[in-house]
Amino acid sequence: MTATLFISDLHLEVGRPDITAQFYRFLEDQARGARALYILGDLFEAWVGDDDEQPLNAEVASRLQQLAASGVDCFFVHGNRDFLVGRAFADRAGLTLLDEWTVLDLAGERVLVTHGDALCTDDTEYMNFRAMVRNPEWQAGFLALPLDNRYQMAAEARRQSRTGTAAKSEEIMDVNETAVHRALRDHGVQTLLHGHTHRPNVHEFSLDNRPATRIVLGDWYQQGSMVRWDDEGFELISLPRE
Ligand code: MN
Repeated sequence: MTATLFISDLHLEVGRPDITAQFYRFLEDQARGARALYILGDLFEAWVGDDDEQPLNAEVASRLQQLAASGVDCFFVHGNRDFLVGRAFADRAGLTLLDEWTVLDLAGERVLVTHGDALCTDDTEYMNFRAMVRNPEWQAGFLALPLDNRYQMAAEARRQSRTGTAAKSEEIMDVNETAVHRALRDHGVQTLLHGHTHRPNVHEFSLDNRPATRIVLGDWYQQGSMVRWDDEGFELISLPRE
């Protein structure tokens, strides 16, 4: 079987053309010929609504659309930065929007995929913020604001997040073990694949006396990161910046 690819946490923004360029190369190189591409959230550093048609957003949609048109099935799971990506952008980009928790069958193995922020339950401040902004009524209210107001609010939220993050311990910012176990049990799987923490790794552990695996994608700040899954199993791969 041809490979299924997973990426997350590119945090694309106008100020980081190096990341954008590597992403476009990835779409034309590694992703071409894949069976499917799953983007597990935080493709964008910020997303204030599908009506924000700045050139970067339009170009990313166009590049993804080209990949989809070449026969690669493309999927998107919301991250904590781009949770407002909607149907309009997904249609432009040829993306299928997935639920926050999705179980995939990969070469006979059932794998739970998610962005990962919902597993960071020790960060109660963030979990409260998350509950607010994931509320459909809050989202409808936000999206009804003029674009300029939304930009300002998003910038302020990022500023507060940076300040808050600096004050939080490494442990609080990582996934909570109990939340990981619960997610696996709730979905009846032994394998979890996520991003968000920017701590690429493969964690092997025991859950209910059976082997379990948690695969963590890396971010794209200094280099790219992907998981490649085929009949042989999975590989966590870093993609050097040319
Ligand atoms: Mn994230």
